[in-house]
Amino acid sequence: MQYFGLRPLLLGVLMTAVSSLAIAAPMTALVGGNLVDVEDGKVIKNSVILIEGERIAQIGTVRDLEIPQDVTVIDVTNKWLTPGLVNMHVHFTLKLPGAEAAQLQYETAGGMTLRGAVNARKSLLSGTTTVRTPGEDNHVALALDKAIKKGDFLGPRIFSAGTAITPTGGHSGEPVLSGVDGPVEVTKAVRREILAGASWIKLMITRGLADPHGAINSSDMTFEEMRAAVDIAHRHGVKVTAHSSSAVATEEALRAGVDSFEHGYFFDREIFTKMKKANAWYIPTIVVSQKGALEFFKKIGSPDWYLKRAESVGKDHWKALQTAIKMNVNIAMGSDQFPFEPNEGTVASIRETELYVEAGMTPLNALRAATLQPARLLEADKDVGSLKVGKYADILVLDQNPVSNIRALRTLGMVIKGGQTVRNDWAKSPVQ
Ligand SMILES: [Zn+2]
Repeated sequence: MQYFGLRPLLLGVLMTAVSSLAIAAPMTALVGGNLVDVEDGKVIKNSVILIEGERIAQIGTVRDLEIPQDVTVIDVTNKWLTPGLVNMHVHFTLKLPGAEAAQLQYETAGGMTLRGAVNARKSLLSGTTTVRTPGEDNHVALALDKAIKKGDFLGPRIFSAGTAITPTGGHSGEPVLSGVDGPVEVTKAVRREILAGASWIKLMITRGLADPHGAINSSDMTFEEMRAAVDIAHRHGVKVTAHSSSAVATEEALRAGVDSFEHGYFFDREIFTKMKKANAWYIPTIVVSQKGALEFFKKIGSPDWYLKRAESVGKDHWKALQTAIKMNVNIAMGSDQFPFEPNEGTVASIRETELYVEAGMTPLNALRAATLQPARLLEADKDVGSLKVGKYADILVLDQNPVSNIRALRTLGMVIKGGQTVRNDWAKSPVQ
């Protein structure tokens, strides 16, 4: 009798032990800030965010949420709290035509990996807490993802398309002398990327700004090639995104089932209508063709033909973005430049978001396009994209209100990823 009587007691002791283990994760409270809820557009004033380990455990206000003892308190009184930025178009090892790329001509895979690691760290510190990498040589982003998850390096959360799939002569940083041609080769390439760990597939369906030859405004991959890629990818629950400059190529890609489109320099009302119907997404990367980018291209010593091409494409690109915003196309922020790259007085991912407002979005919708919307496209919105209980504590702390003026993103002073303060400009002795 006694034995059986003890069992529930023993179980109770065990359960207490287990639950006390569960709350043993370090706890932090962010106290007094104005929390921007990008989901419903409301602001929680005088908020408390209780972080347990990597995730948000509770959200309340100073008045109604009791802060437990033994909690590290970070005073953010009167500051503004937003989710970390989610940038859908980042190449950690980007090389563009010019003097800088020439210096990297003999870069080894090892050198490239180290350069990628440095850029991943800088990306996080500039406020981008999650990225998607649509094409990185040597699978650098997949390796970085593992190292960052282990805690060996500081960097954003990474979703990666592995290496981009390009037809012979197609778009890439370097001339593609032998690319992937025909449905059989495309099928093989997609399977290899998925084997390597890619959670996205990137297709170069048209040429781009950096290509000196070939038509930028036509389709470079055939329908059969695109269809083969989508077929294999979707079998594995992997989405497909396409580098696309042209409406013609995009129309074919939509019929093939491609999920999202990058750049869209020459997209018009007609193609956006088709994209909406297919629930396809648009990643504008508008910074690559506007004023800030031209300054950047001059700085890195890009050739004249490239500067001219970027400038002329810029006008069409801007019109495309305005049209997409007016039509309520699903837009997810992507910069193509390094997220931390200086651009018109701020960094590229912030400038990209500001440009959405200048092209017609409300500041709240621009903030959503840079947080919640990309999280949805990544199907990672249970983990990132907004400040909600259960999600990762990926938080930006700003001095000013981004909902009334998106340029408040420039007042970023603190970056928290997974509950860890990785940057604090206001601390007496900075964390970094
Ligand atoms: Zn790109």
